[in-house]
Amino acid sequence: MKDNPTLVVIGGGFGGIELIKKLKKKPFDIILIDRNNHHTFQPLLYQVASCGLAAVSITSPFRRIFKGYKNFRFRMADVMRIDPEAKKIITNIGEISYDILVIATGSTSNFFGNANLEKHSLCLKSVADALTIRNTLLREFEEAITRMQIDEKKILLNFVIIGAGSTGVEIAGSLAEFKKHIVPYDYPELDPGLMNIHLIEAADRVLPMMSKISSEKADEYLTRMGVKVWLNTRVKDYDGLNVVLTDGTILKSVAFIWSAGVKGAVIDGLKPESIYQKSRYIVNSLNQVEGYDNIYALGDVAAMISEKRPKGDPMLALPAIQQGHNLARNLVRLLEEKSLKPFVYNDLGIMSTVGRNKAVAELPFGRYHGFVAWFMWMFVHLIRLIGFRNRMGILFDWIWNYFTYEYSFRIITQPFRKARCRECKD
Ligand SMILES: Cc1cc2nc3c(=O)[nH]c(=O)nc-3n(C[C@H](O)[C@H](O)[C@H](O)COP(=O)(O)OP(=O)(O)OC[C@H]3O[C@@H](n4cnc5c(N)ncnc54)[C@H](O)[C@@H]3O)c2cc1C
Repeated sequence: MKDNPTLVVIGGGFGGIELIKKLKKKPFDIILIDRNNHHTFQPLLYQVASCGLAAVSITSPFRRIFKGYKNFRFRMADVMRIDPEAKKIITNIGEISYDILVIATGSTSNFFGNANLEKHSLCLKSVADALTIRNTLLREFEEAITRMQIDEKKILLNFVIIGAGSTGVEIAGSLAEFKKHIVPYDYPELDPGLMNIHLIEAADRVLPMMSKISSEKADEYLTRMGVKVWLNTRVKDYDGLNVVLTDGTILKSVAFIWSAGVKGAVIDGLKPESIYQKSRYIVNSLNQVEGYDNIYALGDVAAMISEKRPKGDPMLALPAIQQGHNLARNLVRLLEEKSLKPFVYNDLGIMSTVGRNKAVAELPFGRYHGFVAWFMWMFVHLIRLIGFRNRMGILFDWIWNYFTYEYSFRIITQPFRKARCRECKD
């Protein structure tokens, strides 16, 4: 491998994984660096958070994905800085040199500079986040049972979700199903009506990235499921208990889930001119970062700005996968001194699920809602999952949940913290 160029890939998400898979047996010495030892299928995180799936079903260890790849090494590390002059990256386990660098670090929650929101919010970007939400959900119920005052119980069972994009809608829908199918049986001492789910959106409709018809359908589903949808409403502040809204309303909650914004997970070290709005690397149609010949970025962290897409491709799994595929092809062509192929995003549509038999889908060949959209959503997610075992496991859990109305993974795995609700008396 010594004569082959060293290709360092930071991030084993959708983009990074696709790139490396396409470079199997190609003349590169590949080093994948990720702060986790596994790939996470983020679109199903909300089902882990709401007890519907096991964390292990939506994750795959990198060493298993790339078993048998002779040109591959993995290092579990957090990349802190890039030194483009010295062609090396600085990580918490030391420095690693590269000939070619690919940044595929995805995105992180954006709190728009509000430190309070950042400090007190629950987020949904990783398996650890999903398990924290799951633990919080189950713990609030255990704690609510022990409380004597109705007001205290209500605060503990008040779930506030900020942002009605796909993630917010999916979490709200799954909590509503938890309320309907689990609460009456698991917590018979509690009135299910004490649990409230608020979904707060700054735009004038839920799923603002979809058509108005799909938004209205999703809103109708959510409302029917008992979710309180707040439109044209922003959050001003949250101190761990009081959610202050722009219209002056104050909701009391200790379970505040932030899904209102994301930004690219940019790493320090590259020129400021190569970064779009401080949050994504500006790349050309070959995914090359502006100002650097041997540094590429792809997926959520890359902004491929064009006339058609002035803000870059959407921060979704498909553009990341397609960019990884195209970049792998181009890296090989580069070695072979062949002409390179510019990337063109093949948009296959967008879908979002709200609950059992309830989803909306906008595909190149039509717009769907209800059971058909829900079925398509499940099919697409199943085929995109990595690993046969994960696919079979999830298919089994979905069928099981569908017929038994059981959410099987109702286990608290973090130590019980008493009285999180500051207004509750010990
Ligand atoms: C809850 C949720 C639901 C979603 N639902 C959908 C959906 O239904 N459909 C859809 O198309 N998209 C969905 N998305 C978006 C989709 O998951 C992302 O667009 C996609 O994961 C982007 O791929 P990526 O390769 O750019 O980065 P990611 O998949 O985010 O991977 C980035 C990797 O980089 C690693 N990393 C980051 N920074 C560092 C660092 N400094 N050092 C070391 N490692 C680092 C991370 O650990 C991670 O493994 C969802 C996202 C979330 C969070």
